[in-house]
Amino acid sequence: MNHDTAREVVLASNNAGKLREFSAILSSAGIRMVAQGELGVTEADEPHVTFVENAIAKARHASQHTGRPALADDSGLCVPALGGAPGVYSARYASMNGGEKSDLANNMRLVSHLQRVQDHRAYYVAVLVYLESADDPCPIVAEGRWHGEIVATPRGEHGFGYDPHFWLPEQGCTVAELDPAEKNRISHRARALNRLLEQLRELSGAPA
Ligand code: IMP
Repeated sequence: MNHDTAREVVLASNNAGKLREFSAILSSAGIRMVAQGELGVTEADEPHVTFVENAIAKARHASQHTGRPALADDSGLCVPALGGAPGVYSARYASMNGGEKSDLANNMRLVSHLQRVQDHRAYYVAVLVYLESADDPCPIVAEGRWHGEIVATPRGEHGFGYDPHFWLPEQGCTVAELDPAEKNRISHRARALNRLLEQLRELSGAPA
C-alpha cells in the first residue's frame, strides 16, 4: 500500500519503538500510523483499574483532539497470586508506595511481595483499542497475553521493565535473555497486534 492511499491513524503514544512496531504490522492493512505528539496531542490520563478502560481513554483522547481514527495500547504485568498486581500500576509499582520510579525499584518490590506466596506464575498483557472516532460506539479491542513466571534473580541485558525477572519455561531463559527480534515476534504486544490486524481485515471485508 503506498502512502497516498493508506489510511492515517493516530497512535496514542509518543514511544518511537511502539510507532515502528505498530507501523510495521499495520501497514499490511493499509494503515499509516502518526504519533499523537506530531499532531500536538498531549498525554491522556490513565485513571482506571483495567487495561481496557485506560486504552479506551487514551484512544478517545487522541481521536477527540485530532478528529481522526486512533489506536492506543495499555500493557503491564499481572501476578494472579498477588490479585493481579502490579497490573495497571506496573510502570509505577514502587513509586506509588513512596519508592523510586525505576525498573529496579519496581522489580525489587515485586520480588519482595512474591516471597509471601508460593505461586510465582505471571503474565504480561497488552490491550489495544482502535476507534474510528471519539464517539465510536463499537471499538475494536484486541488482547494478547504472554505467560511465564517470576524469578528472584535477574538474568539478561535486553528488554526493559520486568524482563530480567520474567522466566519463559518453554525457552529456558528470561525475556531479557531473548533476542529482541524474537521478543517482538512472540510477545504480548505482538499477539495483540496480530489479533487487531485480523479484526481490521475482517471489518474491511464486511458490508458497510
Ligand atoms: P506501557 O503500557 O508500555 O506504558 O507499559 C506499562 C508498564 O508495564 C511498563 O512500564 C513496564 O513496567 C510493564 N511492561 C509492559 N510491557 C512490558 C514488557 O514487554 N517488558 C517488561 N515490562 C513491560
